[in-house]
Amino acid sequence: MSIVIKKERQIRAMREAGQVVARVLELMERRIEPGMTTMELDILAEKETRALGAKPSFKGYRGFPACVCISVNEQIVHGIPGMRVIKEGDIVSLDYGAIMNEYHADAALTVAVGESGLRARNLISATQEALTAGIDAARSGGRLGDISAAIQRRAEFSGYGIIREYSGHGVGKALHEDPLIPNYGQAGTGPELQTGMALAIEPMLTLGGWRTKVGLDNWVVSTADGSLSAHYEHTILITEGKAEILTAVNERMDNV
Ligand code: MG
Repeated sequence: MSIVIKKERQIRAMREAGQVVARVLELMERRIEPGMTTMELDILAEKETRALGAKPSFKGYRGFPACVCISVNEQIVHGIPGMRVIKEGDIVSLDYGAIMNEYHADAALTVAVGESGLRARNLISATQEALTAGIDAARSGGRLGDISAAIQRRAEFSGYGIIREYSGHGVGKALHEDPLIPNYGQAGTGPELQTGMALAIEPMLTLGGWRTKVGLDNWVVSTADGSLSAHYEHTILITEGKAEILTAVNERMDNV
């Protein structure tokens, strides 16, 4: 396994890609509403991506036909946008990546559309908190397993299932680089984290178990037990101090 340490020029490109990702996700989150199709959200994302001078990372990746992976309710990841109409009470996971100057950034979030149940909203909050816990554990000189263990601890604190078959990953010139970052594991194990590593950390939690099934389109992954699932992701950069979150909206970067 070789983990790429990013140099300044590469980091600049990834910061720009990260801002595109943050803005496009924010736009989708603002505009999503009952009655919309998932395809309409994808078109909105693609237009905004191009307007910001970037390209969508996922379109064409291993044949994926759209810009955004849109996964509803018991769907975990890799949902293909289409004619499905979003309904009041749905929880919708939006996973999206962009390329700027040949470098990718990748992020995801889950939106509760309208009035969704308390259990769904708690699952979404816990997934976001698990991501934050993972990011807080990502320190230069620490180990990869510190991130995995922090996510696992937060998820299990609330008794949620942790998806095991899909993981976070390194990101940079390729959308998926080494290392694989499981959402469970042992602190103090795995490769050492070094300044300049760019990682996409992405917990996927469920109200039920961890087992999954792949849909008839060979893309969408759902919980095997039909329980609701939520997904959060950020692309981060390991630094000497706190990790820099490349896919958080940075108001100071008004050049993108
Ligand atoms: Mg990812």
